[in-house]
Amino acid sequence: MIIDNAIRNTIWELVSKAENIGLAGHVRPDGDCIGACLAMYNYIRKVYPDKKVYPYLEPVGDIFLFLKNSDRLISSYDKNDLDLFISLDCSSKDRLGDAAALFDNASSTIVIDHHVTNTSFGDINCFDGDRSSTCEVLFELFDESYIDKHIAECLYTGIIHDTGVLKYSNTSKRTLEITGKLIDKKIDFTKIIDESFYEKTYTQNRLLGRCLVESRLMFEDMLVFSEATEEIMNEYGAVDADLDGIVSSLLLTKGVECAILVHQMGPNEYKMSFRSKKYLDVSKIAFSLGGGGHVRAAGCTVVGEHDEVLNKVFDMFRSELDNIRE
Ligand code: 5GP
Ligand code: MN
Repeated sequence: MIIDNAIRNTIWELVSKAENIGLAGHVRPDGDCIGACLAMYNYIRKVYPDKKVYPYLEPVGDIFLFLKNSDRLISSYDKNDLDLFISLDCSSKDRLGDAAALFDNASSTIVIDHHVTNTSFGDINCFDGDRSSTCEVLFELFDESYIDKHIAECLYTGIIHDTGVLKYSNTSKRTLEITGKLIDKKIDFTKIIDESFYEKTYTQNRLLGRCLVESRLMFEDMLVFSEATEEIMNEYGAVDADLDGIVSSLLLTKGVECAILVHQMGPNEYKMSFRSKKYLDVSKIAFSLGGGGHVRAAGCTVVGEHDEVLNKVFDMFRSELDNIRE
């Protein structure tokens, strides 16, 4: 959709009428999700200082604690009398996790997102699958004169995380214009990029190394696959968040079209991350497995017996790769 004055007015009219406003992003929040929630929180606090705003999010990694008011994020979902609930960076309601109950109880709801697979689950839906990030969509909704250094840091962090530092094909001329305007707010962009994106802990580096060592080429070397098994995670004392970025490193394997990283979440429950370079629409595969995402980056969680789950996923990739070869 086009983000025009009509949708802007609708959103800010609802915000100005509400007293208690809840915000939330998706489970296992990433940089765009965290940046978007804190940008929205800081923006509403600035423009409407009288409103009560509750930003709900699962605990975030230390690398995001420099963002203003990250200490105000709430991880217990107990406020049930919200006038307005704003969902950020979620393609479907279930992605809100425990915050979905607050969404259901709110008098009105707004969905702001950039996933092509968005199911339009709000009263008002503002999403554009051509945008790099939810933070980019927010920039278009905000009045630029209210964007201070702190809000700019939140938006910039979100954009660089979802674009791989302005590298992925979701980066547009407009993305660069917006990041240019954010840099003008005197943010320390070098520090943000290094400390929130490139720097890895020793554990993360060892886990990355192991996943690369264990990776397997499949389907005439068009696909690279790796699995962070429970044993591997335990061996390095790693947590889920330590897997961030590994699937992108797998995709850098010369010659492959796509990458799969699998991670066991529980008995018979597997989280899958899919990435592609040029041809394969991985959002389609993820969506048909109950997940979602973008054309070049998508994911899902599949329940079932290990080998059955993997064979099903491999079959889907095989047939999609066959299609693009034809
Ligand atoms: P990642 O592989 O980094 O977890 O996710 C890549 C993209 O796919 C992100 O935009 C993320 O929001 C989306 N995604 C990942 N897992 C799921 C899922 O289980 N359901 C949905 N709807 N989207 C997902
Ligand atoms: Mn995003």
